[in-house]
Amino acid sequence: MRYVIIGAGMAGMLAAIKLLEKGCRNLAVYEKGPTVGGTWRENTYPGLTCDVPSHSYTYSFELNPTWTRTQPPGPEVQAYFEGVKEKYDLKDWIRFNEEVVSCVFQKSRWQLKTASGVQDIADVVIAATGVLHHPRYPDIPGTDEFEGAIFHSAKWDHSVPLDGKRIAIIGTGSTGVQLVSALSARASELTHFQRTPQWIMPVEDRAYQEEELERFRNDPDVLRSLHYGEALESNIERFSAAITDPDSEAMKEIETVVEQFLEMSVTDADLREKIRPNYRAACKRLIYSPNFYQAIQRDNVEVLIENVDRIEAKGIQGVDGTLREFDVIVLATGYRPHEFMRPMNVAGRDGILLNDVWRDKPVAYLSISVADFPNLFMLNGPNGPVGNFSLIEIAECQWSYIEQLLEGLESAECQEVSATQEAMSEFESARVEQAKKTIFASGCSSWYLDSEGVPATWPWTRSDFKEVMERPDLADFDRR
Ligand code: NAP
Repeated sequence: MRYVIIGAGMAGMLAAIKLLEKGCRNLAVYEKGPTVGGTWRENTYPGLTCDVPSHSYTYSFELNPTWTRTQPPGPEVQAYFEGVKEKYDLKDWIRFNEEVVSCVFQKSRWQLKTASGVQDIADVVIAATGVLHHPRYPDIPGTDEFEGAIFHSAKWDHSVPLDGKRIAIIGTGSTGVQLVSALSARASELTHFQRTPQWIMPVEDRAYQEEELERFRNDPDVLRSLHYGEALESNIERFSAAITDPDSEAMKEIETVVEQFLEMSVTDADLREKIRPNYRAACKRLIYSPNFYQAIQRDNVEVLIENVDRIEAKGIQGVDGTLREFDVIVLATGYRPHEFMRPMNVAGRDGILLNDVWRDKPVAYLSISVADFPNLFMLNGPNGPVGNFSLIEIAECQWSYIEQLLEGLESAECQEVSATQEAMSEFESARVEQAKKTIFASGCSSWYLDSEGVPATWPWTRSDFKEVMERPDLADFDRR
C-alpha cells in the first residue's frame, strides 16, 4: 500500500514516524514549505511562545531534555521538530516546496497533483495540513497607502528595524499579547489596538536552572512525569471540565484567578476598567501571559479599546478622528481557521467535492473521516479538541485510532473505508447540541465559532475524547 501524507508539521511528521516504525517504505510526505514544523516554521514573531508547558509539548515517544524555559519559546519548538526530522531520517521521505493542489479518488486510489506538476497515486492519504495557516487580513481601508512597514504577524519581516520605532499592534489574541509583551521595551512608542480586551491567565515562564537541566538529561522518569505527570493531568482535566460546563466549580475558579490577576496587576483603575472584558473568561481562547499587564502599563505604551477606522500614509486614524503616526504596523489579526486542507481540490467517491460537502461548514466524523472520502484521514481536522491543551497529544490519539482503521486495508479485508453518512450526521448533530452548552458559546466572538456561531470544537471532556479514540466502532464505517 502506498501512503501519502500532506504536510510535514507536527501531525504529518508523527504519521510519517509511525508508518516508518511499522516498516512501511512506500510513503511520501508533501510539504508546501521549505522545511518541517508547520506553524512553528511560519511564525517567527518576537516573543513567540507556546502556551502549553514545555515538557508537555513534545511527542510522548520523544521527550526533550533541552527546553531552556518552563514555557517553550517558538524557536526552540522549531528546533525540536528539526531535531526529530534528523533523528527519524524523515527528510528522505519528505518532498519540500511541493504544495498538493488536487486529490481525486478514482478506482479505490487517490490521484494527487502538486502545484509544480508532480503526480502521485496513493491508497491512503493522511491530511495533516494544520488549522491556523491562512492569515486573516483585516478589511481596514488604506492598508496599501501606509508608507512604513506593515505585515501580518505570521509573515514577519525581519528586515524591518524595531528598536526605538513607533509600533502599532492590531489585535489582542495570543499573538497580539505576546507581541506587546516582547516589543513594549524595544519600541519608542507602542500602541495596542484592542478591539476586544481579553482575560489574561497568569503563568510562570522562567528559565530552568542548570541543576534542573542536568536532571532532565539524566533521569528519564523526571522527564516523563513532567510530560504528563499527575498534577498536570489533573489541571488539564479540570480545565477541560470547566470549558464543557460553564457552571462548574472549575470554571468559577478560572474566573476568580483571572479577575484577581487583573485587580492585582493593573494599578490604574481607569485602565483596569478599560481593559476589563465584558464576556466570561475562556469564552475566547484563554490567554496565558506572565508579563502583558506590566507591558501595557509602561509609559511608552498606549492601549486603545476601539476599532481601527482607517490606515493612512503616516499611520492609523482612530474612530475619534485622531491620526497616530507609526513606523511599523503589525496585523495580529489571526487566521481563517475553517479552511483545513482547502483550497486544495478534493474529490471523493463519484466526484463529490469536499468544497461542496463543506460549503456551510467543515464536518467530519470524529474530526477524522468524511463520508464518501474513503481512505482519507485527517489529523487535527474539523471540530476537534481545542482549548489550552497540547495538539500533539490530540494528534497521537487520533493516529492510534486511524492506525486501527488501516488494519482492514492492510490485511485486504476491505479496499475502502470512510465514515458512514449516518455516523457523520449523528455525530455532528450531537456535537453541535453539546457545543452550544460550552463556555465558548457563552457570548463572545472568537475563531472557535463557525459561520453559524456554534463552537467548531470537541464539546466533551478530554477524557471523553481519549476514550472515544481508543477504538473505532466499525459499525460507523462504510467498508467496501
Ligand atoms: P486571534 O485569537 O484570532 O485574535 C485576532 C485578534 O485580532 C483579535 O483581538 C481580534 O479582535 C483582532 N482583529 C481582527 N480583525 C480586526 C480588525 N479588523 N480590527 C481590529 N482588530 C481586529 O488570533 P491570534 O492571536 O493570532 O491567535 C490565534 C490562535 O493561534 C490562538 O488562539 C492560539 O490557538 C494560536 N496561538 C497560540 C499561541 C501559543 O502560545 N500557543 C501563540 C499565538 C497563537 P476581536 O476579538 O474583536 O475579533
